[in-house]
Amino acid sequence: MLLANAEAWPGFDTTVDLLKGGEAGIPAMVAGIAKVEREARVRSVGYGGWPNMLGEMEFDAGVMDGTTRDVGAVGAVPATLPVSALAYEVMRHLPHVMLTGAGARRFATERGFAVDEVLHPDSKRVWWEKLEQQMTPQQRAAFPDIPLAPLSTAITDPERVRDTTVFLARDAGANLGAVTSTSGWAWKYPGRLGDSPIPGAGFYADSRFGAAACTHTGEMTMRCGTSRSIVLALRLGHSLEDAVKLAVEELAELKSGFLAGVVIHAMDAQGNHQVVNYRCDEEIRYWYWDERMDKAELRVAARINP
Ligand code: ASP
Repeated sequence: MLLANAEAWPGFDTTVDLLKGGEAGIPAMVAGIAKVEREARVRSVGYGGWPNMLGEMEFDAGVMDGTTRDVGAVGAVPATLPVSALAYEVMRHLPHVMLTGAGARRFATERGFAVDEVLHPDSKRVWWEKLEQQMTPQQRAAFPDIPLAPLSTAITDPERVRDTTVFLARDAGANLGAVTSTSGWAWKYPGRLGDSPIPGAGFYADSRFGAAACTHTGEMTMRCGTSRSIVLALRLGHSLEDAVKLAVEELAELKSGFLAGVVIHAMDAQGNHQVVNYRCDEEIRYWYWDERMDKAELRVAARINP
């Protein structure tokens, strides 16, 4: 069984084919997500994504094996694709769970990842155009040696905040797993991590109970531990529907800070799944496949209000 968000289209079938062939869930998902990360037409993940305020790409990714609860994650990684594969390398070759920034890049070199050109020319153009509009002539003349925080609020554009790619799978051995990858928010403050590399927030998996992953406003799911909430609720005996509802209630209880839409993708160990759209204006779609189906389907996420 495979569940992923709409951005997954370049790699979804790759993962399905590997799962059909009996491949374990994590390597099957990492192989599929690598295609998403390298696809320039996916304007939110990997090469096609958006840079931070300084015009630098910083990627985040996470991998979780629901059977062992092993996790590998990387954050704010420069010049590297595919970062989901790098997160998997962290899981397999280090005693750590998460690496960030320069250390993550150093480890990437040790593991044979090339130093990639990762800024799409169109992303560079749009990044500068928008930044330029927001800056005074004095700020423009001194850029980048200016305080960036005042620009942060002005420039965060919910329309371009989205998106991440998330994959959740149940493989032939009934192991659940989660893999995520993103370039994070466009024009984010340098060094900002979203929820995608944070276990419990952007993703979580426990083969005995279920798995979940989130897209959109990581600033909310990090505060609520949304993915972990869902899996814990399943452990405590709630149905998948109730577990997701509980997580949405927690998001709705937030009254301060940056508040916007969140999309939750979730499955339980019995093979049920749910994808819900909380507060996103646009229609949210997701990919779904299970062993009873000839091919994957693009479905519409249900809107949910607490
Ligand atoms: N959740 C991601 C983040 O906060 C962004 C997204 O999915 O749109 O970095």
